[in-house]
Amino acid sequence: MTKRTRFAPSPTGYLHVGGARTALFSWLHARKHGGAFILRIEDTDLERSTPESVNAILEGMTWLGLEYDEGPFYQTERFDRYNEVIEELMEKGLAYRCSCSRERLDDLRETAMANKEKPRYDGHCRSLDISPDTPHVIRFLNPDDGVVVVDDMVRGRVSFSNAELDDLIIRRTDGSPTYNLTVVVDDSDMGITDVIRGDDHLNNTPRQINILKALDKEIPRYAHLPMILGDDGARLSKRHGAVSVMQYMEQGILPEALINYLVRLGWSHGDQEVFSQEELIQLFDVDDVNKSASSFNTEKLLWLNQHYIKEADSYHLAHLLSPHLGRLGIDPAEGPDIVKVVEAQKERAKTLVEMAEISEFIYRDFEEYDEKAAKKNLRPVVREPLEKMKEALQQLDNWEETTLHQCVEDVSASLELKMGKVAQPLRVAVVGRAASPGIDVTLALIGKDACLRRIDMALEFIRKREEQA
Ligand code: GLU
Ligand code: ZN
Repeated sequence: MTKRTRFAPSPTGYLHVGGARTALFSWLHARKHGGAFILRIEDTDLERSTPESVNAILEGMTWLGLEYDEGPFYQTERFDRYNEVIEELMEKGLAYRCSCSRERLDDLRETAMANKEKPRYDGHCRSLDISPDTPHVIRFLNPDDGVVVVDDMVRGRVSFSNAELDDLIIRRTDGSPTYNLTVVVDDSDMGITDVIRGDDHLNNTPRQINILKALDKEIPRYAHLPMILGDDGARLSKRHGAVSVMQYMEQGILPEALINYLVRLGWSHGDQEVFSQEELIQLFDVDDVNKSASSFNTEKLLWLNQHYIKEADSYHLAHLLSPHLGRLGIDPAEGPDIVKVVEAQKERAKTLVEMAEISEFIYRDFEEYDEKAAKKNLRPVVREPLEKMKEALQQLDNWEETTLHQCVEDVSASLELKMGKVAQPLRVAVVGRAASPGIDVTLALIGKDACLRRIDMALEFIRKREEQA
């Protein structure tokens, strides 16, 4: 049978790391088995669901490349269908109206608590024939005895005794269907064969199975994924920094790095850390997902990100870097070919934000020198080398790496200096700090006018320093 999985977020916030991992595992499971991955928006909570959040979820999934084959289906568009199923259960005598007052239910709860029992609806209205005109909820008639066994793909066999489950409300007084009912109807109508979701839903599973049984529907297979913890062992939350997927984009993480990182939260293949997408589709197996919680480790994400930056195709990287330059107020079009920038910098940055920052000098003059670099390199002794460099560069009409390299080499030779003795002060003069790509690449990227202007600035700086001394 073709496998069909789904991701069913409630649009009450952005796409967070936990949700993204759930989506990724469902997506991988579908891709691995040549099945279908379905997106369903569980927006029945009208007060908390927002269109902005739906957009944020779609945006996050698109950025991560988690393409869905069907959907998005919106639960709010399926109320008629839910009501139809509720009617069906009523007709079969497997659901009933309950008009218990808030007070009665509160009393029940308090008595149970006082007796140290689990609060549970007592089935009071099961046999009462409550008129549809009386305000009421509809409850599912849960079997009284027997056990529900879940053969979870991650957790193994988990059994629930029916005696522990009470008659669940499936329709509220205002006529709206509840979560467990809508999920069951959708999973069944959408032909979902494999439900992969967070383990906060494990306790809902026996209830959902009971409703599916009452409707004579196929029971899907379930996989409940363990929680993700922050570096400090507490459940991952906003406190731990970025938890929204799009925040990682803003921080300059590559989507492929985040995917690779997410998959390792709870799944492994030997001690392999880096996986291409094809490898993941081949190797991922939901049966191999860890039962225990996994911890988020920002260092490791950055390590992976650096790896992916180094390995990335330069055109792809250029495309991703561009908005980060934009954020610094830089228009990449007003500079050298951005692909060249990326090629010069890809070994030098852990994130795209960092890459944009260390590339700023290519696009505009810096405000001030790095103090340490200036102190060490912009001293009166470098005046002559800088002046000579300026003259030589001025005469170049071919501003290319090989020529530039030759030029620095020639000036050094004429002064009987090692090339570094000329190149490093020159670098500080044109970059403002001690680190940059090779001097030839650096000069080529900055361009002739800016280089000459900045050498003048450096000479002026040296002069002023001397005066002050
Ligand atoms: N809408 C639920 C949530 O966001 C998921 C339901 C499910 O996967 O069954 O937690
Ligand atoms: Zn009742």
